[in-house]
Amino acid sequence: MEHVAREIKLNITGRVKTQELLARHTSFKIGGPADLYLEPENVTELAYVLTYLQSEGISYYILGNGTNLLVHDQGFRGAVICLAGQFREFTFSDLSVNAGAAVPLALLAQRATALGRTGLSFAAGIPGTVGGALVMNAGAHGHSLADQLVDAQILTGDMAVHIYQPEELELRYRKSNISPNDVVCAVTLRLEAGDKDDLERQSRDDLTFRRSRQPRQPNAGSIFKNPPGDAAGRLIEAVGLKGHRVGGAMISDIHANFIVNCQQATAQDVMALIATARREVAQQFGIKMELEIQLLGY
Ligand SMILES: Cc1cc2nc3c(=O)[nH]c(=O)nc-3n(C[C@H](O)[C@H](O)[C@H](O)COP(=O)(O)OP(=O)(O)OC[C@H]3O[C@@H](n4cnc5c(N)ncnc54)[C@H](O)[C@@H]3O)c2cc1C
Repeated sequence: MEHVAREIKLNITGRVKTQELLARHTSFKIGGPADLYLEPENVTELAYVLTYLQSEGISYYILGNGTNLLVHDQGFRGAVICLAGQFREFTFSDLSVNAGAAVPLALLAQRATALGRTGLSFAAGIPGTVGGALVMNAGAHGHSLADQLVDAQILTGDMAVHIYQPEELELRYRKSNISPNDVVCAVTLRLEAGDKDDLERQSRDDLTFRRSRQPRQPNAGSIFKNPPGDAAGRLIEAVGLKGHRVGGAMISDIHANFIVNCQQATAQDVMALIATARREVAQQFGIKMELEIQLLGY
């Protein structure tokens, strides 16, 4: 690529790398290299980096914790931006918390529980960041981030941070209208007073339940969204694909809506399983399953 050959002169405190293997940054442990990998540590650095990339005509992708992501084996011809530094900070007030986009959602849930604050209990076992959780409207047990959102601070094309109200973001089941070029910088979430012991017990029970129902091998969470009134895992299991393998990837034998990387799986292996599951479910049930995971490099 032309821009890789060019000298990269980016003056930021955060890390700047070339040819960074994205398998290192995804829970699937799959994915080829990104031409550029950047970790801006504050809004000023982020705006500077985006301005540079735009002026050079380099496309970019915002990476959270890579827990809902499948990256192509050939990687991404562009820059991957992973927020760091100040984006990992959070501040609790009495009944709210303001959290940077790079804060792990589960850490926030854990701290809220320790403070006897409820509202984020659903997030205890969700391994993504606050930014990824907003874009995906992550949720569990009938609750999602949308239920707690007060506002979101998002950097847009004019390189300024704008404050968005929940209704402006059209948060629905595992989606929002946040543009792939915009960057979630922070969110403010509403909390309620709760009983610390009850919350801790609930959180322990949720995590135990998850461990018993979800595979241990590297994965990216639910592959498909649940079709209305049904469960993608049930459908995939019903067409007999539980435990089905292609290369190093397998449809989990514990939960059929998970694909696991059991032995140096490639993205191609995963895509082959996705195609098979889609085809079989469409043929046998007439249901078109929509991907929940995000694809990069395709
Ligand atoms: C074991 C396991 C269990 C899971 N359980 C659940 C669950 O119960 N419920 C659930 O909803 N999900 C679950 N997930 C999926 C995943 O954790 C969530 O979707 C999470 O919100 C993704 O966050 P992330 O930081 O990893 O985002 P990534 O996977 O890195 O990215 C997801 C999307 O968000 C965008 N994005 C990330 N950060 C930003 C930002 N700062 N600004 C703009 N765009 C951004 C990316 O570009 C991408 O489009 C699970 C995943 C795993 C591996």
